[in-house]
Amino acid sequence: MSFTACHSLLLYCRAGFEKECATEIMAVATEQGVSGYAKAKPDSAYVVFTPHEEAAIATLAHHLRYAELIFARQLIFSSGIVTGLPVAHRTVPLLQAAQALALRFGSLLLETADTNEAKETLAFCRQFTPHMQRALAQAGLLVNEGSSESADAPRLHLFFLGSAAAYVGFSNPGNSSPWAMGIPRLKMPREAPSRSTLKLVEALFEMLNDAERATRLKSGMRAVDLGAAPGGWSWQLAKHGLLVTAIDNGSLDKALLAGGMVEHLREDGFHYKPKRPVDWLVCDMIESPSRIATLVGEWAASGLCRESIFNLKLPMKKRYEEAQRCRDIIAARLEQAGMPHTLRMKQLYHDREEVTAYLHCGRP
Ligand code: SAM
Repeated sequence: MSFTACHSLLLYCRAGFEKECATEIMAVATEQGVSGYAKAKPDSAYVVFTPHEEAAIATLAHHLRYAELIFARQLIFSSGIVTGLPVAHRTVPLLQAAQALALRFGSLLLETADTNEAKETLAFCRQFTPHMQRALAQAGLLVNEGSSESADAPRLHLFFLGSAAAYVGFSNPGNSSPWAMGIPRLKMPREAPSRSTLKLVEALFEMLNDAERATRLKSGMRAVDLGAAPGGWSWQLAKHGLLVTAIDNGSLDKALLAGGMVEHLREDGFHYKPKRPVDWLVCDMIESPSRIATLVGEWAASGLCRESIFNLKLPMKKRYEEAQRCRDIIAARLEQAGMPHTLRMKQLYHDREEVTAYLHCGRP
């Protein structure tokens, strides 16, 4: 794939986390020997990173893994912004910019920032989509839907800042979020005891691939849920057929307990230990991130669980650094125990001032 027309990376993030997203992409780029600058307007919900040397985009394209970025909701290779779009002929300059990417696309996404201010622009995007789609099809820039090419074909993103300006770029399936605007559309199950259930659904989808989900999350496995009340996460695990021990001094949903898959123990999550190892540990206790990281590291290092999903509630400042500190705490403990592991972290759409982490012990 050619990146010659691309000059920058466009990253979507949660509004208010632009600084973290920018700090992270600068750090990751530096690891690859790439220097550059990031544009990160507070509360804009996106970041643009531009390397000082244009050729460096190809280096980043080769090494950057969307799944390894904590604060980015989407990863787009962009040729830049097209401004002054003429009201009656917006398609013309946008089509030219799309042609300049020298690609054929599997799909088209018209997007805006995930902010209240951008809601009007989102309505515009919906209206404008069919016009742009037609223009691309007529220019032969779209691969046939359902063809063998289409699954792997890049997606064209037009990221609108109002109706007169848009960043143009593309994402690669397999190294980006599959969702429009990087926001998963999940339906709240009516019987679930809390909205938190969506966070675990999103984590399982976002942080494990299909093959991992099939082998690592199976009916009949056992799980412990620390900080379980009212039971949204336990409910989700039970729905996958897992037997759950739910730890919380608070009350659990009665219907959930009546289902027979979940037992409830009113104990302190920092002291409870299962009598024999379980497959999964999940933890949604609101506590200092380093305390949670130490706890999870200890469970994993002593072989009490093999898989874990947990939340880290970040402080107001130095949030990227705090996430890295938690990563280091876990890595140090597992290295000491001689345990190979994989640790992924992501600020999910359903996360607020927090990130979600997935730890797998054993070979990848
Ligand atoms: N995941 C839950 C759900 O899906 O419904 C929501 C959990 S809520 C955000 C946090 C829970 O952690 C609270 O119910 C609280 O009682 C519990 N908690 C906090 N500290 C705890 C501790 N030391 N031991 C056990 N539970 C704790």
